[in-house]
Amino acid sequence: MNLILFGPPGAGKGTQAEKLVNHFDLPHLSTGNIFRANIKNETPLGKKVKSILDSGKLVPDETVVELVADELDNEKYDNGVIFDGFPRTVGQAKALDQYLEANGKKVDTLVTLDVPEEELVNRILSRGQGRTDDTPEKIKTRLQVYKKETEPVLNYYKEHGIVEEIDGVGNVDEIFDRIKKAVS
Ligand code: AMP
Repeated sequence: MNLILFGPPGAGKGTQAEKLVNHFDLPHLSTGNIFRANIKNETPLGKKVKSILDSGKLVPDETVVELVADELDNEKYDNGVIFDGFPRTVGQAKALDQYLEANGKKVDTLVTLDVPEEELVNRILSRGQGRTDDTPEKIKTRLQVYKKETEPVLNYYKEHGIVEEIDGVGNVDEIFDRIKKAVS
């Protein structure tokens, strides 16, 4: 199963992705985690993307698509994957679909977590992960970028009939139960 976990920053994608990974025994592919690991290890990719992540804007599609295509070549993704934070633009979604199609695969479901904007901001500010992009100003940028560049991905996949909208307000287990129901 190839599943996209979708939603604005602070919607709980990372938390729910971890639960899905355990439940379905699938690998997790978080482009944000990969970028942060590269920044921490001061790799060439990390040096290239650090200021972009710090600004709250998006890494260019070309860089993201190349990274994900390289990653998906790894056989650990043969039986499926939980995408978290990818695709974030319609361009990325189209590139993903092309890649999967060339390998006889497809995105099976996109689960999107609905959370009101004011709760998103409160959640990010209170999660205290020490991320350099978790400041009020950067959160505002990330939400604007989400609306403008990422939300159109929902309409793209709605046309494919694979979108499941989930109420993302509640406790972690309640939300996870809703996702499991929607996916099965
Ligand atoms: P995340 O951990 O998913 O919130 O991602 C943190 C940051 O990494 C984002 O604000 C972007 O700067 C960058 N990033 C992560 N995934 C992507 C993506 N699919 N496309 C572009 N930029 C991304």
